[in-house]
Order: sequence, then structure tokens, then C-alpha cells
Amino acid sequence: MIRFLIIAVIIGALLYVFKGFFFNSDYKKCGKCEGKGYWIALRGEKNKCDACQGSGKILR
Ligand SMILES: [Zn+2]
Repeated sequence: MIRFLIIAVIIGALLYVFKGFFFNSDYKKCGKCEGKGYWIALRGEKNKCDACQGSGKILR
């Protein structure tokens, strides 16, 4: 029974790691604003990036 619990904990830890890995891989740095979430317009004003909605990262 203890062995089963250890295996369950290991599997849970692996799932947690893989979940984090896949979650991170769902997003990439926004190329339009270079991850800042905004871009500077010609007159020096900050414009919220419309490609990533200001988050700086976009779904693949
Ligand atoms: Zn952006």
C-alpha cells in the first residue's frame, strides 16, 4: 500500500511537470510588441498591442 502511494505521488509529480511544460508551450512571446504588451507609436505614445491584448504573449 505504501508502495502504491509512492507511485501515485511520483505520477502526480510527473503530470504536474508535464502540465506546466505544455502550458508554457501554449504561449510564445508576442512578435509584434516583442513581449512588452505595447508598442510605441511614431509620436511617442504607448499603444496597447492588439495582437496579444497587452499581455505580451500569444497563443500558438
Ligand atoms: Zn503583442
